[in-house]
Amino acid sequence: MTRRPYIVGNWKMHGTRAMLSEARAIDRAAQRHMKVEVALAPPFTLIHPIHREAEQISVGAQDCHHADGGAHTGDISAAMVADAGAKFVILGHSERRQDHAEDDALVRAKAGAALAAGLRIIMCCGESAKTRESGRAVAFVKTQLKASLPSPDDVPADLAERITVAYEPIWAIGTGNAATTDDIAEMHDAIRHLLVELYGEEQGGAVRILYGGSVKAENAAEIFAVPEVGGALVGGASLTADSFMGIALAA
Ligand code: PGA
Repeated sequence: MTRRPYIVGNWKMHGTRAMLSEARAIDRAAQRHMKVEVALAPPFTLIHPIHREAEQISVGAQDCHHADGGAHTGDISAAMVADAGAKFVILGHSERRQDHAEDDALVRAKAGAALAAGLRIIMCCGESAKTRESGRAVAFVKTQLKASLPSPDDVPADLAERITVAYEPIWAIGTGNAATTDDIAEMHDAIRHLLVELYGEEQGGAVRILYGGSVKAENAAEIFAVPEVGGALVGGASLTADSFMGIALAA
């Protein structure tokens, strides 16, 4: 890893104010491990409380709407999460693609809205078990990512700072079965080639690519040693400061 490793916790639909003490502990630990960039994406309701107290970690959202505002009951815009203190938003997570039928075009529209609101984005991609078994995982992920990322005509000049990609095979999420380092290496290499093809050598070469899917303290070091792995997107193991910072320490 050439840049500072980026370790992002995705709390999913976990966390009430009782979890603020855990966020505080993560923030304190991050202050002692400045070689790692630590970020947390709590539920919308905790973005502002965590942002208000955090000294080291950055706070992000797990989704945003593609429109600026309007009659969309229950939805939250990119500008709203930015106003609450979010610095980034996770987009295209497989749970949103599945639970909310988000397709690539919608995810791309959300990416445009997030960048316009000044947010960084973490763009998720990943194949199902069936696609992997069929031998088409790399082709599937490249197609999905190409259609979900902002088109090259639409990206900010500092895109390598603003865009991060997270490869998360669906079958590895929350199962305890992380992808093998060979599979991660193959996919991250393919993603790097795509990013260079889309955004050019300099910019596309500098976008960070995270791995996600059952990352824990025990397997983090070997995953971080894989070329083109720039950090991790962590679900279950980000819910306590101990397990989350165990991962950061391995980086
Ligand atoms: P997991 O989730 O670490 O619990 O597998 C990762 C994710 O969905 O981002």
